[in-house]
Amino acid sequence: MIRIKNTLILLLVTAFFFTAFAGAIDDGPRPGYRDTPIIPGQKWRVHDSERPYPVVVDPGPGTFSKGRPADAVVLLDDSGDLSAWSSGGKEARWAFVEGAMEARPGSGNISTRESFGDIQLHIEFRTPPEVKGSSQGRGNSGVFLMERYEIQVLDSYENPTYPDGQCAAFYGQWPPSVNACRGPGQWQSYDILFTAPRFSGEGLLLSPARATVLHNGIVVHDHREFLGPTSHRSKPSYSKHGPTGKISLQDHGNPIRFRNVWLRRLDDASRSDSR
Ligand code: MG
Repeated sequence: MIRIKNTLILLLVTAFFFTAFAGAIDDGPRPGYRDTPIIPGQKWRVHDSERPYPVVVDPGPGTFSKGRPADAVVLLDDSGDLSAWSSGGKEARWAFVEGAMEARPGSGNISTRESFGDIQLHIEFRTPPEVKGSSQGRGNSGVFLMERYEIQVLDSYENPTYPDGQCAAFYGQWPPSVNACRGPGQWQSYDILFTAPRFSGEGLLLSPARATVLHNGIVVHDHREFLGPTSHRSKPSYSKHGPTGKISLQDHGNPIRFRNVWLRRLDDASRSDSR
């Protein structure tokens, strides 16, 4: 009788903890915000915690090549030469480890020395194999086009965060159409076709910045419009800037690695810059 009673108590205790745990998963707060402005032209708020998560699509194994087109501007190869990059105009303070450039937490963003307008950019990245932190704290970096328009880099493999801040998002503006992330420690790629914004002489926006982004070979943005430079918790808005800008990579406190970075210039403005 005592044994049956003990078993019953054990069952009840187990059921209680199971229910409490399951409840925590269902009802726990999702990362994000509900007190931020509505994104112009959308029904969601900036970093909206209620925005639906993009569907996960396994991109399959990576097929990487060291090859690049003959007219590519090489920004990083496997030689360990970081001279295309700088930290505030001085030598880039990031490391070169096992054939890749690694963000040194606390050392700040790095930028290309050259400026570019419309480009085709190829870049490979790897979030840390050792999983630490959650949401925006896990494997965070970013590719800033013209130092303003961020394509987010984040470990979004089984790591919920607000959808407009997950890997491959136009940060704070557009989630990727699907989540094509590989797991932590695996190499991934972005192929980005970027069109710089155009402004009139008076500073009016004639056409916004746009990008098509392939994440691990999968289209996640198709000629999508940036609503302005990237901002955090606020509405983006344009102000006039030059026809070219540097590409920067973000130090967000995580040792993200990058390798095989190259681009092709697609416009006259940036071509004339280099002459
Ligand atoms: Mg970032």
